Amino acid sequence: MSTAATIQLSVVIPVYNEQGNLPTLFSRLYPALDAIGRTYEIIFTNDGSADRSYELLAAQHAARPDVTRVVEFNANYGQHMAVMAALERVRGEVIVTLDADLQNPPEEIYKLLEMTDAGYDCVGGMRQNRQDSFFRRRVSQLVNWIRSHLTSITMTDQGCMLRAYSRNVVDGIVRSGAVNTFIPALAYSLAQRPTEVPVAHEERHAGTSNYSLYSLVRLNFDLITYFTTAPLQIFTIFAMLCSAGSLFLVLVLATRRLILGPEEGGLFTLIGIIIFLISVCMVGIGLIGEYLGRTYQVVRNRARYHVSHTLEIQS
Ligand code: UDP
Ligand code: MG
Repeated sequence: MSTAATIQLSVVIPVYNEQGNLPTLFSRLYPALDAIGRTYEIIFTNDGSADRSYELLAAQHAARPDVTRVVEFNANYGQHMAVMAALERVRGEVIVTLDADLQNPPEEIYKLLEMTDAGYDCVGGMRQNRQDSFFRRRVSQLVNWIRSHLTSITMTDQGCMLRAYSRNVVDGIVRSGAVNTFIPALAYSLAQRPTEVPVAHEERHAGTSNYSLYSLVRLNFDLITYFTTAPLQIFTIFAMLCSAGSLFLVLVLATRRLILGPEEGGLFTLIGIIIFLISVCMVGIGLIGEYLGRTYQVVRNRARYHVSHTLEIQS
């Protein structure tokens, strides 16, 4: 166990180009936490923002140094690594994660705490009336489906970052040293008594989502590959079925050649089959590459991120 928890609640917030949201976030978050009536700290990780986010965070640290801590990355390492860096530093008994864009209303935090008080060690928010694009909601549905069939992780809303964890679960996440991971799923796999609560969801207060289609695909690959190698097995089984089918085809063609003599018909069908099999091979190579790339990142053991400095009062 790391340093004995002296604070009741740690709130962890990743920040990437959120200058349009931070002032409103501050004006809603601090009163919401004051109203809860527990001792708290807020850790912001500035994930290499190119806008004025750092200045705003530094000013907030100056205004409320007792409860505000800032972890400054030298570059952009992604939302989950930003959360990870903060989790490594938390001092609280209960840890809540939250997005900086006010899609997760800070006024909902108390609902999660009611659950941790009741003895649950991993509390997931379920976004009610999710305010995201149609496309994002369909992608979530698809990934939810894949995840629930390929892994033993059961979550209604994996993408909701409004979540609460016990210190024990957070220590487990930190100890795991995970590189490419999806923190809500990792937390779930370490929890003993997980649960979920409905929470409100709002539209992004300002700016646009930081997730491009490419980063969304990468993130979802992280989610699946970190927890299961089932895609590789499914692919192998499929490849075996294809081999059996092609063997059968070769036998049929050879028999026809012996009985009927040379024939030209069916050439295009054969080409079609060959192109299909080649593309199946390419998918397989890509899939192996995804796992291999991640294995490589773990094996070469490079730092997952670099903290250039922190703003905090030493406890
Ligand atoms: N974020 C981050 N690093 C990134 C991308 C996002 O720290 O590279 C933060 C961002 O500032 C926000 C949270 O992660 O607090 C969620 O990001 P966003 O709102 O863009 O994602 P979405 O809500 O569209 O899933
Ligand atoms: Mg958002």
